[in-house]
Amino acid sequence: MALPSIFATIYYKGMPVATGQNSYKTDPLQKKWANHPDKIYLHAEIEALKRASKILEPDDFRHTVMQIYRLTKSGDTTMARPCSGCEAAIRHFGLDWVLYTNWEGQWERLF
Ligand SMILES: [Zn+2]
Repeated sequence: MALPSIFATIYYKGMPVATGQNSYKTDPLQKKWANHPDKIYLHAEIEALKRASKILEPDDFRHTVMQIYRLTKSGDTTMARPCSGCEAAIRHFGLDWVLYTNWEGQWERLF
């Protein structure tokens, strides 16, 4: 089983409030947002959203930012753009803006 390689952090008014990482756990919220019935394994973004939603009120999400990055086996930062299911979930929760690392390991804005 592969180690987690994708990490997501949610910041509320600049303070980190929740983190997530990809895993082989199946998850009902992931299943809800999966764009394919096989894609039910927990993604970093969904885990972070779940954890943040235990702390924050729904209205608080418009003051939140998510950062997502992916590490290769050699420890380099690489492409971590959210999949369509995670992007839909992020937009549903109403985050203010989202950053992910691109192929060059630099931050890029999803929206
Ligand atoms: Zn995803």
